Amino acid sequence: MSKYLLVTVVLLVAVAIWRHKHQRPAAPARRTPATPPTPVAMVRCAHCAVHLPQTDAVAHHGRYYCCAQHCALGPR
Ligand SMILES: [Zn+2]
Repeated sequence: MSKYLLVTVVLLVAVAIWRHKHQRPAAPARRTPATPPTPVAMVRCAHCAVHLPQTDAVAHHGRYYCCAQHCALGPR
């Protein structure tokens, strides 16, 4: 059972990455209300541009960083 859960999580992450790469300027209302939003939002480190879950990111002045060190270094 947990095997299917893992596959689902992997798919959600893959879709999140794919969607981020193919972002549209103004997306119209979704036609698939059955699909829940991605559980964990992905954010980009303002210093090294690595993508990571928002829950693992360090938020500072409206920007996100992958670690406290990059937070101290600031945006590149
Ligand atoms: Zn970083």
